Amino acid sequence: MSFIRSYLSDTLEKILSTFDCLFCLFDEFVFFCNSCFMPELPEVETVKVFLEKNIINEKTKSVKIENENLRFVVTTNVSQILSNSIITKILRRGKYLLFLYNNNYTLLFHLGMTGFFRIERKYEFRKHDHLIFNFGNKKLIFNDVRKFGFVKIFNAKEIFNCSHLKNLGPEPLSSEFCYEYFKKNLNRKTNIKNLLMNQSFVAGLGNIYCSEILFRSNIKPIRPINLIKDNEIIKIVNSVKKILLNSIKLGGTTIKNFVVSDEKIGYFKNKLMVYGRHGMVCFKCKNKIVKITQSGRSTFFCSQCQK
Ligand SMILES: [Zn+2]
Repeated sequence: MSFIRSYLSDTLEKILSTFDCLFCLFDEFVFFCNSCFMPELPEVETVKVFLEKNIINEKTKSVKIENENLRFVVTTNVSQILSNSIITKILRRGKYLLFLYNNNYTLLFHLGMTGFFRIERKYEFRKHDHLIFNFGNKKLIFNDVRKFGFVKIFNAKEIFNCSHLKNLGPEPLSSEFCYEYFKKNLNRKTNIKNLLMNQSFVAGLGNIYCSEILFRSNIKPIRPINLIKDNEIIKIVNSVKKILLNSIKLGGTTIKNFVVSDEKIGYFKNKLMVYGRHGMVCFKCKNKIVKITQSGRSTFFCSQCQK
């Protein structure tokens, strides 16, 4: 049984790494599907900030596994290990969230496509609820309709060596992600969009932000990386940082990843220059935005502004 489960997980992981969203495979027919966004760095960061405000230093009285079926089955030891422990810190690494506990365990979350958190004073069941963290006067609930998210528990010492995190490239907003780092990695045989999408090159970027970054850098997504000039590397690195910071400031692009009423969330959607805008005019040159498929994923660009 475990062999079949692991085979299915691996297969699903391969499919997920090929496509942003299974439903968006049909995006020839859908202009903009809100629920089909795969959260990227700014969305996960926004969720992190929300969680930090609400659950840091809270004592977990109990964790109820309402439905263990996520991308990987939630193990029952999660409830035992986390009872009566305190969340001391929440970190984000790439598109992952980490809950650090005072008993030297860490929970690793991936939101998949539709994973989101909500906080309630009194728990009210909703379909697709998976985990309920009971803090006494409030509950944190993880809900995931499409079940591509997951949660795993690790010993804190092992977390950064787990298969999900150990091969991640640098954080794009860190000083490590710079011109020199970029230049060193231009010996791979790929195009610029696929390089930026590669999590071992840089962690946290996905389809939305790669299209936006390359538009801002005036570079066509299909350009082989050996043809990227030095001044263009600087432009890309700067665009990565500017676009991510701006999106974080506006609460990311998706609005489905947490439920909160008094926050600014998802407003970067209004700032998208090319993503999801195929057939519409470019804001800069009035040429039509085109959409192509690269490695099974949709890419949007302006053939006049991007060379
Ligand atoms: Zn243009």
